[in-house]
Amino acid sequence: MNISTEEIRAHIDTPLFRMISQTADELQMECYLIGGYVRDFFLFRPSNDIDVVAIGKGTVLATAIARKLGKEAHLTLFKNFGTAQIKYKEYEIEFVGARKESYRSDSRKPIVEDGTLEDDQRRRDFTINAMAFCLNSERFGELLDPFGGMQDLEDLIIRTPLDPDITFSDDPLRMMRAVRFATQLGFDIYPDSFDAIDRNKERISIVSMERITEEMNKIILSPKPSVGFILLEKTGLLEILFPELTALKGVETKEGVGHKDNFYHTLSVLDNIARETDDLWLRWSALLHDIAKPVTKRWDPKLGWTFHNHNFIGAKMIPHLFRRMKLPQNEKMKYVQKLVSLHMRPMQLVEDEVTDSAVRRLLFDAGDDIDHLMTLCEADITSKNPVKVRRFVSNFKILRRKLREIEEKDRVRNFQPPVDGNEIMTLFGLPECREVGVLKTAIKDAILDGIIPNEHDDAYRYMLVLAEEMGLKPVKEG
Ligand code: ATP
Repeated sequence: MNISTEEIRAHIDTPLFRMISQTADELQMECYLIGGYVRDFFLFRPSNDIDVVAIGKGTVLATAIARKLGKEAHLTLFKNFGTAQIKYKEYEIEFVGARKESYRSDSRKPIVEDGTLEDDQRRRDFTINAMAFCLNSERFGELLDPFGGMQDLEDLIIRTPLDPDITFSDDPLRMMRAVRFATQLGFDIYPDSFDAIDRNKERISIVSMERITEEMNKIILSPKPSVGFILLEKTGLLEILFPELTALKGVETKEGVGHKDNFYHTLSVLDNIARETDDLWLRWSALLHDIAKPVTKRWDPKLGWTFHNHNFIGAKMIPHLFRRMKLPQNEKMKYVQKLVSLHMRPMQLVEDEVTDSAVRRLLFDAGDDIDHLMTLCEADITSKNPVKVRRFVSNFKILRRKLREIEEKDRVRNFQPPVDGNEIMTLFGLPECREVGVLKTAIKDAILDGIIPNEHDDAYRYMLVLAEEMGLKPVKEG
């Protein structure tokens, strides 16, 4: 990449950077832009996250800058770490003093001493994240790249600045970061660094699950997440972190009949859905949609390979998985469970006849998540047979049209039965009991099956007839 100091200087010649520059000069402190901002400049990815390293006290520089920026700047000092953050307009600026780090074997937390710029660059995770631009006025825009980050950017390579065994063993989170950057940027991990991940993979156990999941979410949110999961699998990290996913791998053949490799199928579904949506939880649903296939796999001499109920069992596995991965135990989890449990329904529907009643039931069960469910199902079509794919796609079009028509007509998407339990209990003088449940279900089924319209009076009359057959008498005329 042929970018001159003039071009760098022109790019960072903004009032904010000039002000940081001037303040550092006044304090007679060397100061550099470093890390992601510099990397992203060369990748033409504009960024508002700015990391500044000072040779001296980063907190002193930050305090002087915040004072000059005035009321619009919000300064936070992290005294214990000797770091500071300024939030200013759309910018988030982190300040650190250059430091030298050494590690103990049982912790990601280093022992820290003051250091030179190069000491600080050496403690960075990858060469492409270790480049710096000088901000002091005399050398404004000078690139400092002692580890060949620029060359690695050109070669699309993720490589550690030091011996990778040391970099990864010191802070094993960097192994996840290597995979994450490779996935986000479409880079390769340098063979030496890759092999070192394999050798150091067990050390991932000293990293908190929250940090690991943060990186995994970034992999899932990448343009082609399969790249990351294949790397995690190849390095052996996936087996440690997510054995349920590696269990999907492989093909078994019996009597000449094989099933698809559910690991690679899952990754294709994830890539497919990544082209349609940036919704993290919809992407998680794609990753987990077949998670119970290994535990439900059976050989049936008549049917071949079956994965009976893998959707329901998969939905049941999710709370445990989410707890282990420190993912939220809230409505996001319930949403993923719902999509996993329903993921086969639209496909079953288009394979059978698309009756109004089946469409109503699907709308009722999926509620507001119906569009996401349809997106998941379409992403699930990974057949290599173009005739089959064309048929599915065209059937899905018909189903989508039917879903729209029936929703407009019957409004069942979020429907509450028009006669509720309270009304039934008051009418017949009943406590909460089985009979009330039977009547409520019968009303719901009759509406979904199109026997009665979704209206109070029709439902009420229908319920009275049923109740009479059950021997129930109103305590007052309704
Ligand atoms: P992104 O914003 O996409 O996460 P980034 O490179 O800005 O990318 P940050 O996590 O904000 O990532 O880190 C900023 C810089 O700090 C990195 O570019 C890198 O130089 C350094 N860094 C962050 N985490 C580590 C780590 N675990 N080990 C070594 N250096 C790190």
